[in-house]
Amino acid sequence: MTAAEIIAVGSELLLGGRVDTNSLFLSASLAKHGIEVRFKSVVGDDVDDIGVAVTNAAKRAKLVLITGGLGPTVDDVTREAVAEVTGKPLRLRPRAFTSIKTRLQAAGRPVTDTQRRQAFLPTGAILLWNSAGIAPGFAVQWKRSWIVCLPGVSHEARRMCAESLLPLLRRQGLLSPAIESRTIHTFGLLEGEVDRRLKGIIPAAGPFRLGLLASSFGVTVSLTQSANIQERRLAKKSVVNAPTSLDRLMDAVIAELGKYVFSSNGQTMEEVVGQQLRDQGLTVALAESCTGGLIAHRLTQVAGSSAYVDRGVVCYSNRAKTELLGVSESLLKKYGAVSAQVAKAMAQGIRMRSKADVGLSVTGIAGPGGGTPHKPVGLVYVGLATAKKSFTKEFRFHGERESIKIRSSQGALDVLRRWLCHASF
Ligand code: ATP
Repeated sequence: MTAAEIIAVGSELLLGGRVDTNSLFLSASLAKHGIEVRFKSVVGDDVDDIGVAVTNAAKRAKLVLITGGLGPTVDDVTREAVAEVTGKPLRLRPRAFTSIKTRLQAAGRPVTDTQRRQAFLPTGAILLWNSAGIAPGFAVQWKRSWIVCLPGVSHEARRMCAESLLPLLRRQGLLSPAIESRTIHTFGLLEGEVDRRLKGIIPAAGPFRLGLLASSFGVTVSLTQSANIQERRLAKKSVVNAPTSLDRLMDAVIAELGKYVFSSNGQTMEEVVGQQLRDQGLTVALAESCTGGLIAHRLTQVAGSSAYVDRGVVCYSNRAKTELLGVSESLLKKYGAVSAQVAKAMAQGIRMRSKADVGLSVTGIAGPGGGTPHKPVGLVYVGLATAKKSFTKEFRFHGERESIKIRSSQGALDVLRRWLCHASF
């Protein structure tokens, strides 16, 4: 399998102004084509530093992929660094310059000497066209490695990866069978609980790897099958009754995690819930307090959601809960705004006023202030009301305010999901 290394260039990536997201989709894209990214690094806009990173990477990897620093400004020095390290001096590439000129003129922008810099590439480099921007990319062979440079602008890098990089790697015979992987999204279990439940299922020896990633949206389980044939042979010899394919293993994982699994095909919680509502011909109305409209936002991010989202109200204050949902002042006074009783009244209120099939509510303490020993930060109640019944679920979340808001929205959507598929709570 081809080993790759990614170098993200840009001082802003080191100063905390921006996160390197390019390496995420590049790694995923390469993995799909059987190329394993073994190292990633982030380097500032400095010729020497980039040179050191490229030299080290080329010792370890057959493919060194660099993003960023290809633009026209003085701090864009990736071209110079690669030229220096590889000993292939920069030369003007007339075809690259023509393409840059055409694009600039089409955009009504002047063709300056600064812009011309972008057409200087290391001698002998393969030009990679940039159909989404101005700066061309390039690839050079150096020692036993390919050094490939893509722009930093994400949509340009993404486009160039598909249109130029992968075809180049295919021509060079560097692509191999994909690293197969599956992901399963869960909500409601802690990472340690997922790990414990899956202990006996994933064979310790063999080609399968288990990865767990906890976030505010739940725990994502990833299963990967190495394309390494030796490992597969070893697995066959030494593991009795081990699942022979990734799909069988995935089925076993889903069966073990049961109702906590909300998606195994890449769908988000809002997509899953939307699909269920659409399939069952139901509508939902939302009454949101601590999530401030986040549930409505998430549901309406899904195209076609007008088929099942009726409305949502943000009822943050007690007055709003009374005026907009008809929650009685005495109930608020007796139990407090963050209580199962008020959550239920909110869900019933929005359902009755909207005439939607389902009313979904959330009320909680997002923090950092406002908690008490009896009602701590992270205490959240979700209410669900239909024409026939109403119920609530209590959650106790941890984390910062933003994370509690996300967890609350995920918890509320999960309550709706479980109700829609008749799962227990
Ligand atoms: P440009 O022609 O725009 O100068 P470039 O190839 O020189 O392109 P940079 O100038 O390094 O790229 O970055 C362009 C934009 O892309 C900046 O907003 C930068 O913060 C962003 N960017 C650069 N590298 C990354 C990365 N690894 N992940 C996410 N964003 C990035």
